[in-house]
Amino acid sequence: MTKRFLSIGECMVEMAPAADGNFRMGFAGDTLNTAWYARRELGKDWDVAYFTAVGDDAISARMVDFLDASAIATDLIRRIPDRTVGLYLIQLDNGERSFAYWRSESAARRLAGDADILKANLATADLIYFSGITVAILPPSERQTLFASVAEAQANGATIAFDPNLRPRLWEDADTMRKAVMDAAAVSDILLPSYEDEANAFGDRNTEDTARRYSGQGVPIVIVKNGACEMLALDRGNIQRFTPDPVASVVDTTAAGDSFNAAFLASYLRSGELSPALAAGAELAARVIGQRGALIDS
Ligand code: ADP
Repeated sequence: MTKRFLSIGECMVEMAPAADGNFRMGFAGDTLNTAWYARRELGKDWDVAYFTAVGDDAISARMVDFLDASAIATDLIRRIPDRTVGLYLIQLDNGERSFAYWRSESAARRLAGDADILKANLATADLIYFSGITVAILPPSERQTLFASVAEAQANGATIAFDPNLRPRLWEDADTMRKAVMDAAAVSDILLPSYEDEANAFGDRNTEDTARRYSGQGVPIVIVKNGACEMLALDRGNIQRFTPDPVASVVDTTAAGDSFNAAFLASYLRSGELSPALAAGAELAARVIGQRGALIDS
């Protein structure tokens, strides 16, 4: 029987500068990037679905068309009539990228607004993937709805994977961010944090600190990514370390962590082994950072 990899979060319209001075429109977002790469990494025995909320306008329809064309299942997506999708614009200034966002009223912020729909959707999944950004964009009371629904799916046998993807600017304040992320960890089986973000937010002194803090929440597997440096995997008390091969020319690190997560999870779901999964994650991330853009074809 086909299994379902379900990613939950916000996909946005991306306006990226093109060589001719115009902007090129695309679609991206951390959890969407992971779903997109998971679709390529997983076999036919897995269906990859995205759960979000969009509006019922033309740009929302185009976003759903893009997901359909990417072979990502869109049957769970909610339509919220008086809202539309979020947007961000990339500006280049002497090669430095900066981002401007229009997402504060996006439809995706209402994705957990109906607890019954949320629970029914999560019940269709074998693997549920979400991130700190998924949690940050929700109204505070609906964060609890999400955690309760995830916990219920976990109790019914789903595996839960969570990337804290800490973005302090999306949160009301740092304490709220730290508490929500630790609450999310408490309902997760696989944690995929990035060390630099964790050190900044929690004061961790090394990757092992990060892993032990999350395993203290009862998380069986914690993978602490660490850019080009050695990463650490903590699996029910056992530590493994893995250093990615150097990448000769880093062009654009967008979606490094998202693509790592997809290839790691796809490999781990196949084999149940951490070592090949770490290598698969690092190998895909290396290809992604060697090219411009979040979603690369080869
Ligand atoms: P995020 O993009 O979420 O902040 P990281 O920067 O930790 O995540 O990177 C995720 C993964 O991408 C790393 O575990 C590593 O495999 C790969 N990676 C990132 N930067 C480099 C780099 N400079 N050289 C080689 N691999 C890298």
